[in-house]
Amino acid sequence: MFTCNCSYLDEVHICPSCQTPMSCCEAPPVHVGDGLGWGSEVLFICLNNECPTFKNGWQHIELKYGHKGSYRCMELPGSTEKNVMMVASEYAFTGSTIDIEAAKLQNIRYMKEQEALAALETCKKTHDLGPVLTLILDEAASLANRQKAVGCLMEINDIACIDPIRNHTFNDTSLGQACSLIISEILQAHFKKECPHCAEIIKAQAHKCMYCKADL
Ligand SMILES: [Zn+2]
Ligand SMILES: [Zn+2]
Repeated sequence: MFTCNCSYLDEVHICPSCQTPMSCCEAPPVHVGDGLGWGSEVLFICLNNECPTFKNGWQHIELKYGHKGSYRCMELPGSTEKNVMMVASEYAFTGSTIDIEAAKLQNIRYMKEQEALAALETCKKTHDLGPVLTLILDEAASLANRQKAVGCLMEINDIACIDPIRNHTFNDTSLGQACSLIISEILQAHFKKECPHCAEIIKAQAHKCMYCKADL
C-alpha cells in the first residue's frame, strides 16, 4: 500500500529506446547492506516486448555471459538518466506494475488521514467534529489513529457525532463498541437517550417518543 506523499505518481517517463510510456513498477527488494538498493520504492521500466533494448538484449547476454536473459530500460523517479536492468524472463516486473490511478486515490486518502490526525489537538479546543469523524469513519486509516480520534469524542461532547457513527459499519468491532460506550456517555451528559424503536435522540425522561410516538 502506498502511504506517502508520492510525487512520482504524476511523472511520465518515455522509454528512450522505443519511445513508448514506461510502466511504474515496485522496486525489487534488495538485501540491506549489499549497496544495490535503488533508493526508491518504485522504478519506471519499459515493459514493451518490442522495445529494441529488450529484443536485442537476449543475444547480447547470451554472447557476453552465456545465459538466458535480456535488458529492460529503466529510469528512477525524478530522473531522466537512462538505465537498464537485467531480466531473466519477459515476465519479470510484469506482476509488479503499479495501478497509478488506484495509488493516487490511496494517496489522497492517506493525506486526508494525516491532515485529520494533525488537527485532532486543535479540534478538541474548537469542538470541531470534522477531523475526528474523518478518522473514525475511515476504515483504511490506522487503528491507532482511529482510537486516538475516539478518545477525543467525549471531550468534544457533541451529539452530532451520533448519527454518522451509528450509520457506519465498523470492521473492527472493538472500535465500534468503544464508540457506543462514548455515545452513551454523551447522551447522558445531554440528558438524552436514543428511542429504542426509531433511534431518534429524545429526552432521557421521555415516556413517549416525540418522533415515532411509541410508549417507552
Ligand atoms: Zn522501450
Ligand atoms: Zn421513536
